[in-house]
Amino acid sequence: MTTATMMDVPLTIDQLIDRAERWMGDAEVVSRRPDRSLHRTTYRAIAQRARRLARALVGAKIRPGDRVATLMWNHAEHLEAYFGIPLAGGVTHTLNLRLHPDEIAYIANDAGDRILLVDDVLYPLYEKVVASGARFERVVVVGCARDQYEALLADAPDDAMLPTLAETDALGTCYTSGTTGKPKGVVYSHRSTMLHTIVMLSPDTLGLGRADTIMPVVPMFHVNAWGLPFAAAMTGAKLVFPGPYLDAASLLELLAGERVTIAAGVPTIWLGIREALDAAPGRYALAPGLRMVVGGSAAPEQLIRDFDRLGMTLLHAWGMTETSPIGLVSRVPPQLADADEALRYQLRAKQGVPPPLVDVVVRNEAGEVAHDDRTSGELLVRGPWVSGAYVGGHSPDRWTADGWFRTGDVARVDAYGIVQLTDRVADLIKSGGEWIASVELENALMGHPAVREAAVIGAPHPKWSERPIAVVVLKPGQTATTDELRAFLAVRFPKFWVPDAVELVEAIPRTSAGKFKKTELRDTYRQYFDSLA
Ligand code: AMP
Repeated sequence: MTTATMMDVPLTIDQLIDRAERWMGDAEVVSRRPDRSLHRTTYRAIAQRARRLARALVGAKIRPGDRVATLMWNHAEHLEAYFGIPLAGGVTHTLNLRLHPDEIAYIANDAGDRILLVDDVLYPLYEKVVASGARFERVVVVGCARDQYEALLADAPDDAMLPTLAETDALGTCYTSGTTGKPKGVVYSHRSTMLHTIVMLSPDTLGLGRADTIMPVVPMFHVNAWGLPFAAAMTGAKLVFPGPYLDAASLLELLAGERVTIAAGVPTIWLGIREALDAAPGRYALAPGLRMVVGGSAAPEQLIRDFDRLGMTLLHAWGMTETSPIGLVSRVPPQLADADEALRYQLRAKQGVPPPLVDVVVRNEAGEVAHDDRTSGELLVRGPWVSGAYVGGHSPDRWTADGWFRTGDVARVDAYGIVQLTDRVADLIKSGGEWIASVELENALMGHPAVREAAVIGAPHPKWSERPIAVVVLKPGQTATTDELRAFLAVRFPKFWVPDAVELVEAIPRTSAGKFKKTELRDTYRQYFDSLA
């Protein structure tokens, strides 16, 4: 029997920040402050301050496995927390500041958060969260007039011993946004985070390197900003944080001013950026070939086309809180690099193929679906950065007996092995015994030149059980009639898919993660067809 002779070095994230400090210590971390000024620091300073934070937390009696919460925008101190809390053996719990205070309080108590780091500008929200019953033992205000964070770092005991980390230790926790039932906790380990980070860098995944300047627009409380802060530290790439300013003009100013080469965010962010660029051509000098990762909800094909026209590349990826999040990335397979343009855009608008170490399968009642681009089923996923359970063992039925996580997403696979999501299981519309995929209708509508955004939901119908209604926001200054939009869909879909109604609205309600809030839309239109009964 031959035993492997390799060193047993655990996959722990202290190595990321240690290396960034030692070998790329001068690389910059830039943050937009609440007063709009730009704060500049380096990985060297971040590493030193993260270790001070760790010692301060150990001094404050944080023990391995204890949860330390953050209620913060994207900025340098949040990055320090990303490293400092796990260095102390703690578990970073990034609270979602867009949730209702009652929900934040529930999540904080469910996780058992002991200490909270809160941005000064979010202090009023913190007060509401406490009024809603959150029980933190201690709160540390970060930044501006009330700052307590600098004193915490300054007073960190020099002799506090940092624990030795194991790769299976918990490092961070996030709660699912939970459209059904209570939010559920997912806990990431050092190992799952390190493996996810390494694979993110691969050219077939996000293709990140030291020469990049990375801007996570996606909040650090949304699945760890999709892992970008860890990936940036692993490469030593310059990082740019937008702070609280997520409007298109502020983002474009930063993208141009800091020569960002790759940014990441939900489709709504890029919709706003596209409009701002179209409204002021040539105003922003962006880095040539700027890439933008888009995920969280489906990227409309039209958006991908429009950005190509503007000399920027959208890269579509799929993931979930439960998958750390990268689970699928969409790139045109090399054998189709010269295929016709329409096909290449269609493929890029799909969700893609799994990265190394992740596997997916699409299954329906009959088993795994054929890769025929037609038969759909539920997307199942497994891998070393896919959660194997929820905190407290809630909803065990989300895992199959043979070890797959049920995503709740409906998908099909084409002959190239590219996965396309067609809907959430819960959002499918059942009309006369047949299924209608709302996301497909939405994407088609968003390809109409006058349409800015479109959400499609099912409303109860006396004859058909449910019928689709499209809720549409038009682009500024554009017009389109209901009949025109229905005719636009009629040439693309079976007749029974065409929504009975198209409602033109000012805005579509959104969830805290920027997705269409279909529960609210369904409530609004619940009685739409009642008069037909
Ligand atoms: P969350 O855990 O809040 O990140 O939500 C995960 C869900 O967002 C997935 O199950 C999908 O329904 C949806 N989602 C994420 N990325 C995409 C994408 N690229 N296209 C369509 N839906 C997506």
